Amino acid sequence: MSYQRYWNESIETMPREELEAYQTEQLKEHLKYAYEHSPYYKQSFDESGVKPEDFKVLSDLSKFPFINKQIERDAQISKPLLGTLTAVPEEDVVFVSASSGSTGVPTLSPFTKTDFDEFQDIQSRLFWAAGMRPHDRYVHALNFTLFVGGPDVIGAQNLGALCIWAGTIPSERLLYILQEFQPTVIWTTPSYAWYLGETAKKQGINPATDLAINKIIVAGEPGGSIEATRKAIEDLWDAEVYDFYGISDIYGACAGMCSARNGLHIAEDQIYVEVIDPVTLEPVKDGQRGELVLTTLRKQARPMIRFRTGDIAIFNKEKCECGRTHGRIQVVGRLDDMLIVSGVNIFPSDIEFIVRNIKELNGEYRVYAISENFTTKFKVEVEKHADVTITNEELSEKVSHNIKARLGVRPKEVVILEEGALPRATHKAKRFIDLREQ
Ligand SMILES: [Zn+2]
Repeated sequence: MSYQRYWNESIETMPREELEAYQTEQLKEHLKYAYEHSPYYKQSFDESGVKPEDFKVLSDLSKFPFINKQIERDAQISKPLLGTLTAVPEEDVVFVSASSGSTGVPTLSPFTKTDFDEFQDIQSRLFWAAGMRPHDRYVHALNFTLFVGGPDVIGAQNLGALCIWAGTIPSERLLYILQEFQPTVIWTTPSYAWYLGETAKKQGINPATDLAINKIIVAGEPGGSIEATRKAIEDLWDAEVYDFYGISDIYGACAGMCSARNGLHIAEDQIYVEVIDPVTLEPVKDGQRGELVLTTLRKQARPMIRFRTGDIAIFNKEKCECGRTHGRIQVVGRLDDMLIVSGVNIFPSDIEFIVRNIKELNGEYRVYAISENFTTKFKVEVEKHADVTITNEELSEKVSHNIKARLGVRPKEVVILEEGALPRATHKAKRFIDLREQ
């Protein structure tokens, strides 16, 4: 059976100028809406001396103040339950997700009925772009408890796929589902996709031949956009890996890979993207790394105007070979996980890229930030394959050399461990450990 090529062709392939004109019109309304309905934006715009009418062209958005997770949390605490950022009465809210974050009070993300439907339509669009079709059987292996990714399964259902609401269950039960139902698509994190495949093998199940999975959607860690990591998971499963990016403060998934798998198309009809230097707060040049700042264009329950995500990414606005015009992001890591060593920005994902391309290593790794004489250094732990013939010293030097060659700085130490020495992640891998004194 042949299907249409795009989920929503007119939106997804809209010429860039039309798309930007559309964003401009949406933003004019959205800024006005936020100012008139959200107590927080009224106060914040007034304090910054800006009015919604000051926005005429897209670059005018830079006149408006940023918000961040801390502001979001404070606004929530100041007026329970949903906080002063919220722009609708509670009776209009039909869904909230909560993100625990690393510290303090979980932040709630509210949706009206319309917000929720539009959110799910984006999920359908991203699933479609990743190649999911109504004949697929999809197993949703994400957490359902308060997590914004939980309801994403509805987007797959609206697309017409047969959906299996697995959630985060023990691996043995999930493997049982994969064997019994023979689903074709699964969504999980990259580290769990790897762990699950390895666990299957230990139980005598070959994920490549005994299971029907031909697409793995991953999110939550940079691995899905690191080619060598993707390739390792793909070989293990004999399946294609598609990276998605989501953020609970905005939507579940906001961006996802198409068949070209060169960056993640972000839903630019719903989200306006800026990339800034996290220190100067000025926009970076096109194609350069910077902090991703997102603005909702239509979300009624809680508009997000210039939300600093803390994610470091590259944004590419060139039209993709798939025909879609919406720009593509590539997230390289969390600002919190960024190490500055001798003036060079280093992310765990940079180390992952290197480690995955050394054949003596199995791809597991950890990066430690350490301080020595008030200077930041880093140490890397890796695992070698059981059958490696070179010595640990030689292997350590090889890793160190490759890191220096790619990043321009040498790690203080590379520790070679036996296979299985590092703790395995079931869901989100802890790859970065900060041992510096505060
Ligand atoms: Zn594309």
